[in-house]
Amino acid sequence: MVVDLDWENLGFAYHKLPFRYVSYFKDGKWDDGELTENASITLSESSPALHYGQQAFEGLKAYRTKDGSIQLFRPDKNAERLQKTAERLLMEKVPTDKFVEACKAVVKANADYVPPYGTGGTLYLRPLLIGVGDVIGVHPASEYIFTVFAMPVGSYFKGGLTPTNFIVSEDFDRAAPHGTGAAKVGGNYAASLLPGKKAKEAGFSDVIYLDPATHSKIEEVGAANFFGITANNEFVTPLSPSILPSITKYSLLELAEKRLGLTPVEGDVPIDDLDRFVEAGACGTAAVISPIGGIEYRGKLHVFYSETEVGPMTKKLYDELVGIQFGDIEAPEGWIVKVDQ
Ligand SMILES: *Cc1c(COP(=O)(O)O)cnc(C)c1O
Repeated sequence: MVVDLDWENLGFAYHKLPFRYVSYFKDGKWDDGELTENASITLSESSPALHYGQQAFEGLKAYRTKDGSIQLFRPDKNAERLQKTAERLLMEKVPTDKFVEACKAVVKANADYVPPYGTGGTLYLRPLLIGVGDVIGVHPASEYIFTVFAMPVGSYFKGGLTPTNFIVSEDFDRAAPHGTGAAKVGGNYAASLLPGKKAKEAGFSDVIYLDPATHSKIEEVGAANFFGITANNEFVTPLSPSILPSITKYSLLELAEKRLGLTPVEGDVPIDDLDRFVEAGACGTAAVISPIGGIEYRGKLHVFYSETEVGPMTKKLYDELVGIQFGDIEAPEGWIVKVDQ
């Protein structure tokens, strides 16, 4: 390891690494893209990404295994999701091969910054697609920038898997019923900043968003997906067109069924029927699996397993997922992509 960072205490913060990948779409085609040491993007003041939110992003991680190799977790799924987001926002799509090769190139070029195995740290990759160029009317851009940059990030949990509490937002939604909730776009995040701030001021980790049409069913846990475990061993997650389809969530649905013998269920999760769950959690690339201690709804805190201890099934799911990501447990076919060093 050439660089010497405080690997155990990285947190989740921007860190300017030596290399990032940038590619331009212009005159109807993508260029080959290249690695650059320039961490700034120059763009027209009239770029649609700046004015009309024509932008999208992704998030995935590279993991250092016990034998020192480096691997990505299902990067093709991030590529496909970025393509779906691009369709919704009328943006130019990035082909899957181009996306995965860009991720690999950035990891390889910054390999010294992939945290050592055992520290809990990972290299977080942030692919970004923005509509640029000289357009001031409300039209899709004709030029795009696709970039992938990276930074080492720490384990989400300092003291192990510690549950936290969340509060239901009835005053704010993150997305509209037929809006862009299922697209990974910055606008959804801009809409979530105020409710997120209020939740944190009130002592909660973040907000539980309900379905925007009826405010009766759980949709998202901050910027992560929700899951609950029932007493009869079902792994339940909400199904709705305004939820961001989490790759972690779909991976857990599969692992819950095939490795842990749970029954996977995607369906409605009514906010007034939380008693059916013996455990609950939030999942996503950044959150990994984050146990939910309790949910505050209309002045009452509903506690699931415990406010201080992770439940046994949540722990099993966490160990299986993280074991696969760090190469300690055999992955289902196609989930792991090795990066040459
Ligand atoms: C990215 C994201 C998630 C998590 O998706 P993963 O693919 O598991 O990282 C969940 N909710 C929202 C709103 C997101 O933007």
